[in-house]
Amino acid sequence: MTLKLYNTLTKKKEPFKPLKDKIVLMYSCGPTVYDYAHIGNFRAYVFQDILRKYLEHKGYKVKQVMNLTDIDDKTIRGAHALKVPLNEFTKKYVDAFFEDIRTLNIKRADIYPRATEHINDMIGLIKQLQKKKIAYQGEDGSTYYNIRKFKKYGKLSGLQIKKLKAGARVKQDQYTKEEAQDFALWKAWDFQDGNIFWETDIGKGRPGWHIECSAMSMRHLGKTFDIHTGGVDLIFPHHENEIAQSEGTTGKKLVKYWVHCEHLLVNNKKMSKSLGNFYTLRDLLNKGYAASAIKYALLSAHYKQKLNFTFEELEAAKNAVGRIFTFVDRLEEAKGTKNNPKADRLLKKLCAEFEKAMDDNLDMPRALATLFNFIRDINKLIDAKKISQRNAAAILKAIFELDKVLGILEMRAEPQLVKGLEERVTQIIKKFSPDYEIKEGDLESLMRAALVLREQFRQNKNFVDADALRKELLNIGIKVEDTEEGAKWKLVK
Ligand code: AMP
Ligand code: ZN
Repeated sequence: MTLKLYNTLTKKKEPFKPLKDKIVLMYSCGPTVYDYAHIGNFRAYVFQDILRKYLEHKGYKVKQVMNLTDIDDKTIRGAHALKVPLNEFTKKYVDAFFEDIRTLNIKRADIYPRATEHINDMIGLIKQLQKKKIAYQGEDGSTYYNIRKFKKYGKLSGLQIKKLKAGARVKQDQYTKEEAQDFALWKAWDFQDGNIFWETDIGKGRPGWHIECSAMSMRHLGKTFDIHTGGVDLIFPHHENEIAQSEGTTGKKLVKYWVHCEHLLVNNKKMSKSLGNFYTLRDLLNKGYAASAIKYALLSAHYKQKLNFTFEELEAAKNAVGRIFTFVDRLEEAKGTKNNPKADRLLKKLCAEFEKAMDDNLDMPRALATLFNFIRDINKLIDAKKISQRNAAAILKAIFELDKVLGILEMRAEPQLVKGLEERVTQIIKKFSPDYEIKEGDLESLMRAALVLREQFRQNKNFVDADALRKELLNIGIKVEDTEEGAKWKLVK
C-alpha cells in the first residue's frame, strides 16, 4: 500500500513518492533555543518523529535535517538580559532540547545545523536575490524581499497580495497574513543588537529568521527535497517566505510535500510562551508523569486535528500506556503449548489494519483503536489460557515492530523511572539489612546486591524476609523470578 500525506501546498491527500528511489529527504523546523521547549513544541517534534519512523517502517531510508534557530530576536534578547555571549546563552537550551528528545524517545535527526554556522550561505542567497532584483536595501540599511517580484507568493498559505500596499515593509520575524509585506532578509545592526552582529558584504547586521531555513535546508538537502514539516503556525509567514527565498533564487520547486501538524491547545488557545499557558516536559515529569504517558498523549490524536491538553487526557494516556505494558508482560509469561490459529489470524489482521490506517495520512486514532481492539481480543484468549508460547512470541515480535514507529514500548525502562527506582531499591536493601554495604551504582548493580541479599536470607532459611524483600521490590515495579540460571528481575511498570 502507498502512504498518502496531506500536502498543504496542494490542499490534498497525495500518494507519497520520493524524488529518488527509496530515499526521503526531509527538513523539519526545529526549536528556537531561547528557553525550554513546551509540550506544544513537542507535539510537532513527536509528529515528525512518527512520520520519519513510519517512512522507515515502509522501507525508506530517511535523511532528516532539523535546524536549531540560535540567532533571532528572542535569543538576542535572552543573551542580553543575562549579559552572556549568545552561544553561551543558547547552549543551555540546545542541551536541554537534546535531553528532552531523548526522554521522549524521539530519534535524533541526521543533522542539526545551527543558524549561526550558516551565515555565509545566507549571505550567498541574499546576494543572488539582489542580483535578480528581488531583494533590495531599505533606507535603514536592512535588506528586504520584494514579494511582488515572486509571482507565486502566497501559494502555500493562500494569501492574495493584490490588495497590499506596495513597498510596505516588516522587519520583525513574526507577523500575520493581514500584515503581509516585504520582509527582512538581513537586518541592519541597531543598538538593541549590542555586540551580536556579523560584518558582511551586505552590511553589518544579522539574518532574518526566514532566510535561515532556506539556507540550511538547501545546504544539507539540495535545491529540491521531499518533505518539509513544522507546526501550522509556520505556514505563514515562515514557510511562505522560505519558498519565496529559495525558489526565487533557484527557479526550482523547493519541496514536494509540505506537511504541517496542528496545534496543541489549552482551553482552546494555542499553547505558547507568549500566552503563558504552557507546560514544559520538565514541568510534567516533575508532577510525576512518565514520559511515555506524555508522549502517548501527544501522538494519539490525528496530526491534522487540534488537540486540547488536559490532565484528564494525560491520565487516560497513562492508562493506555499501562494497558500496553501489561499486555506485553502477560505475553512474556504465556506458557501454553497448543497453538491457537485464531490468535494468528487476529495478529495478521492487526498488522494489516494498522498499516492501512497509517497509510491513510497517518491516521493514528484509527491505528491505535485497532491495536487496543487486538489487545482486548488477545487478553480474552490469555484469560482462557488459549495462547501458546509460540503465539505469544509471534505477537510480541509484531508488536515490538509496530512500536518502532510509536516508540512507546521502548520506553518501558525510562531513565527517570529508573532513577527513582535506584533510590527506592537502596532504601529497601537498607530496610532489610541496615549494615549491608551498598556501593553507589546503577539499577543493575543495586539489583544484583538486592538479589545477593535475598539469596543470603534463603541460605539462612529466613524465607519470611526473602519473600518480603521480593514483595517490596514488586511493589515498586520490579519483578523477581527464580529461573534455572538463578534469580532474574525485570521492570513491570
Ligand atoms: P519555535 O521554537 O517557536 O520556532 O517552534 C518550534 C516548533 O513547534 C514549530 O514547528 C512550531 O510550529 C511548533 N509549535 C509551536 N507551538 C505549538 C503548539 N501549541 N502545538 C503544536 N506545535 C507547536
Ligand atoms: Zn524553519
